[in-house]
Amino acid sequence: MESLSHILNHLGEEREKYFNAVSPPVIQSSNFVFPDLDTFRASFEDELHSHTYTRGNNPTVEILRKKLAALEGTEDALVFSSGAAAIAAAVIGNVQAGDHVICQELPYSWTFSLLRKFLSRFGVEHTFVDCSEVANIEAAIRPNTRVLYLESPNTMTYECQDLSACAELARAHGLVTIIDNSYSSPIYQNPAAFGIDIVLHSGTKYLNGHSDVVVGVLCGSKEMVQKIFQSELMTLGAVLSPHDAALVIRGLRTLPLRVQRSNESAQVLIEKLEQHPKVSRIWYPFHPNFPQQELAKNQMRGCGGLFSVQFETDSMEKMEAFVHRLRCFTMAVSWGGHESLIIPTIGFYNIPGRPTPPTPWNFVRFYIGLEDPAWLWEDLEQAMEAL
Ligand SMILES: *Cc1c(COP(=O)(O)O)cnc(C)c1O
Repeated sequence: MESLSHILNHLGEEREKYFNAVSPPVIQSSNFVFPDLDTFRASFEDELHSHTYTRGNNPTVEILRKKLAALEGTEDALVFSSGAAAIAAAVIGNVQAGDHVICQELPYSWTFSLLRKFLSRFGVEHTFVDCSEVANIEAAIRPNTRVLYLESPNTMTYECQDLSACAELARAHGLVTIIDNSYSSPIYQNPAAFGIDIVLHSGTKYLNGHSDVVVGVLCGSKEMVQKIFQSELMTLGAVLSPHDAALVIRGLRTLPLRVQRSNESAQVLIEKLEQHPKVSRIWYPFHPNFPQQELAKNQMRGCGGLFSVQFETDSMEKMEAFVHRLRCFTMAVSWGGHESLIIPTIGFYNIPGRPTPPTPWNFVRFYIGLEDPAWLWEDLEQAMEAL
């Protein structure tokens, strides 16, 4: 892999083309002039890499794509207007009616929905499998299986899959492997190095990192990226705007610092939490009680800022009081920004039309941002008095 510093500070940037500006310009243009017919013809030969129309490619977006491909160690990358769009493009691009997808048991909620509600309407079958054992995946493979979809770790309970074993099994059966790598970010895990074909990110999380852009990323071989570009990206058109691309490039400049800080602060808080009498269980891939700790440490260079806690309390009222007492943590979906967040499972109880969640009511998913961990701990400690 190229040096991280080179990728984040220079790769893809052709400053001499824009007045030697350090920061790339936002090329806010929908279309590009062909000075002559030779340029016209050459542009249409390769719309993914030429400058023809911004639905296909845009110079600001292209800088971002180059950096992302290099960060994941793949030949090329695409960006989308959301992580969900990247996920949909990756799966749809590799199936047709009558095909079958194997997906790890507890994927991101809209991935679940894509398979269960959306693709089933078009005759694409799926099986959700506990992929912690490769034998379970092998047993689920059918003659029409085309895709193995992974998310390791996922972002609530952090189940992991053995990436090289999954890639090997998939290759033997001609399956395309896809992984949602949002939890680790490219800083801590590079699935392509283990043989995974497509690496996805919700760039809304760590990659942008400032809670102000929704963006999706798809990294893969030239051939795979070209195929998905020509079909799903150009047809469905869920593209990232040049302005948002510039914001994500800015976010990437500090990616390693932010991910490391989030990871270290999470570990500081976990160490304190596990000694607290009101904590009954902690979920975190690098925690000694995590059943797949060894696997996680084998394939991830570091962990991250997401963990979950089950609290010791006998009443839902006390749980609600704990949530409302927190001052420094805010209650919001998403994660990966500067700000520390909680998602309490109890918030999903008693929503009309929504099934009871798989995690218990005394379970809270924490994201640790960039604040001082001592300040966050003080807040947690006073809020836990409500339990
Ligand atoms: C947020 C998230 C997504 C969806 O990404 P959007 O950018 O919100 O569309 C997918 N996977 C994981 C793991 C996520 O956390």
